[in-house]
Amino acid sequence: MKLTKYLVSLALIASWQLSTDNSLNAQQSASTSTERFIENDNTGQWLNDPPAVQSHKKAKNVIIIIGDGMGTAQVYASVVAQKDASNFLRFPYSGFSRTYSNNKYTTDSGAGGTAIVTGHKTDNYHIGVLPDNTPVPSFLTLLRERGLSTGFVVTSSVLDATPASTYAHVPHRKMYDTISLHMSQCGFDVMIGGGLSNFRPENRKDGLAPLDTLRQRGYDIAYSLEDMKNSKSNKLVTFFCENYYGPVAPGRDPILAEGTKKALEILTKNPKGFAMMIEGSQIDWSCHNNNAEYMEAELADFEKMLKIVLDFAEKDGNTLVVVTADHETGGLVLTSGDIKKGENECKYITDGHSGVMVPVFAYGPGAETFSGIQQNTDLLPKVFRAMHLK
Ligand SMILES: [Zn+2]
Repeated sequence: MKLTKYLVSLALIASWQLSTDNSLNAQQSASTSTERFIENDNTGQWLNDPPAVQSHKKAKNVIIIIGDGMGTAQVYASVVAQKDASNFLRFPYSGFSRTYSNNKYTTDSGAGGTAIVTGHKTDNYHIGVLPDNTPVPSFLTLLRERGLSTGFVVTSSVLDATPASTYAHVPHRKMYDTISLHMSQCGFDVMIGGGLSNFRPENRKDGLAPLDTLRQRGYDIAYSLEDMKNSKSNKLVTFFCENYYGPVAPGRDPILAEGTKKALEILTKNPKGFAMMIEGSQIDWSCHNNNAEYMEAELADFEKMLKIVLDFAEKDGNTLVVVTADHETGGLVLTSGDIKKGENECKYITDGHSGVMVPVFAYGPGAETFSGIQQNTDLLPKVFRAMHLK
């Protein structure tokens, strides 16, 4: 079977990569020996039986949107700041997601992203692998194998934990050299973000050149927003910066909105449909900094992308859109504000992540199944049910 072959080949890649990186093997064994909160059968099977879809219509396309660190308070801050014109108000269904990881009450973005995009809980810092390091495929990989077009857009490095969880299989999120090799081989059609550095041989321990691999595999590489807009290729990777983008407020290019438009332009060409992951990466960073101004600017940027996605989904009628977060960041509390002026008084109680439930918003065929309190690992089986797939 195709999937079994995939898992075996990934296991081989993973074991080879692991043997080349001894410093991280130490972290790996420390992590796997950690006492776990919950039992995991480690079979690679989803344990949940998602509720039946009420609408008979099948979702042809799926877009999973992750606001990194975006809890309920962050969403409400955006609803207020947008003076009730927030795109979050356009979702007919909403619910909550429990974000704890396999070994921690409070997840990191590696385990949080992996849970959302693969449907499996894992240990903190793991990317696309179970706690025992067995690789598990993401919805992008699974749907690509079924002939759909695939891609992601992030306001971070393409190698950061959330995007990496869609294509890489490593025991630690900081194994950037290995993660970039996995990205260069994943075969997604569109990958938009920053993070050129690890793709060049001079910046790597192994001297390999995954940038050349991408070129050999037929990707157009864009180094600026203009390059990206002008590209006529149906296979596109962007490296707008060496490592990480700056915040949007001091003048970052509108990569989230423009990247989403470009990805939709390419991915919608496939009559079989498409699957896409979009991440507002810096909502998390702003909350780590306890910086409300930075946060609201990133949320406003996120809103522009949401508008593009929802306008598309409304017109299309066959697209399931799911918006959620991997975890909350900052323990944000909105103590006061001014509704008419669109102002919030923001207080943070931590510079780290918190363990609270995060919101889930859904639009399109099958959206009704996302209401209620669910596990972060329930989201993907529900997406597949909405697409009439197993
Ligand atoms: Zn995160």
